[in-house]
Amino acid sequence: MSRSRIFIDPGRCDYCGTCVAVCPADSITLEESTVFVDDKTCTRCLACVRICPLGVPREVSQ
Ligand code: SF4
Ligand code: SF4
Repeated sequence: MSRSRIFIDPGRCDYCGTCVAVCPADSITLEESTVFVDDKTCTRCLACVRICPLGVPREVSQ
């Protein structure tokens, strides 16, 4: 089983909420200056990676 996670750099994110809306697993939490991905529920579907207008979410090795 591949070990990866989704990394969202808060310094590059503009908190638009697009990835939160598209995540089928409700794994992304957006706060005023932070965005979290819950590794336990994220299925690595990469929908957030594809939809982010700024190309911020990335799949990285654990
Ligand atoms: S990879 Fe898929 S499940 Fe994981 S945070 Fe992105 S949209 Fe949600
Ligand atoms: S879609 Fe991109 S810019 Fe918008 S909140 Fe998600 S990571 Fe940030």
